[in-house]
Amino acid sequence: MGSLTIGAFARAARLSPKALRLYDELGLLRPARVDPDSGYRLYEPSQLAQARLVAWLRRLGMPLAHIRVVCSLSPADAAREVAAYWARVEADTAARRDLAAFLIDQLSGEGDEHMTLGIRYATRSDIGRIRASNDDSVYAGARLLAVADGFGGDGRGAPASAAVIEALRPLDAGVPAGDLLSALDEAVHSADAALRELARSDPATEGFGSTLTAMLWSGSRLGFVHIGDCRAYVLRDGELFQITHDHTHVQSLVDEGRLSREEAASHPQRSLLLRALDGGGVAADLKLRDARPGDRYLLCSDGLSAIVSGQAILGTLTAVADPDEAVQRLVDLANEAGGPDNITCVVADVTG
Ligand code: MG
Repeated sequence: MGSLTIGAFARAARLSPKALRLYDELGLLRPARVDPDSGYRLYEPSQLAQARLVAWLRRLGMPLAHIRVVCSLSPADAAREVAAYWARVEADTAARRDLAAFLIDQLSGEGDEHMTLGIRYATRSDIGRIRASNDDSVYAGARLLAVADGFGGDGRGAPASAAVIEALRPLDAGVPAGDLLSALDEAVHSADAALRELARSDPATEGFGSTLTAMLWSGSRLGFVHIGDCRAYVLRDGELFQITHDHTHVQSLVDEGRLSREEAASHPQRSLLLRALDGGGVAADLKLRDARPGDRYLLCSDGLSAIVSGQAILGTLTAVADPDEAVQRLVDLANEAGGPDNITCVVADVTG
């Protein structure tokens, strides 16, 4: 088969000539040649595959500049790039879905502020077996549970996580159910401002900061704020669900299909954070959940989750009914596994 006119090529590719002219203008798919006399664009049959790929990627919603990159790659690399793009779209959609659910809830006035929830909790924070100081901070009060894991050399991590917890403490006085997420959002911005202030007063604090995972409740609503690699889990009907998503380099590789969960667990850079509080602005995840009597929540620093398997955590939370004994058992498990990092756990049971 020889060269195709734009009309014939458009029919074969199931695209409109208008789309092909656009792809040409955007540099996504140039015609094989342009007839010097008529000015007609002529295409080769071998260009059909790329024309179809461009059309599919546009249907996927991929930005044009990104399509240009994908089209320049080998099929294997292009496949990886599309998987990575789609993982980012899904993460973004999930965050917006939570926000939409929250707004729908709030606008339809469904926040049940009359139901009184009881929460029975226990906390434990342990230095572990290797570290010289405990840089984790924890708070547990009548309405707020929070775990923060500070980082930065020369003992700068502990003041950072303490400052973050301190900025959240006022929330424990109580917040209306409809305001849970905005109150958490405001508090996390104050925490970031507190770190900025700390850095200003002491130039040696450069490179310090803290992660944060916190749960605030009102009525039957639980609000979560999360940034970094501490985790929140819920045990419901015998199954353990991780509520938070690690903001780590390794987790992003897992999301993009470049690394398996097993490889991630032993990856040398598994503690490399993509997001944290460091006084430089906030990109925290906010989430709302309905509390159900019988639910058991766990908040923990990575000193537990990086070293104790999900199976062992599930086993402990299922077998040990008393929250105080459960946190102690979890800390013991991390220390028995070597205790390479500080370990902080909060176990909270929702009662009717
Ligand atoms: Mg840690």
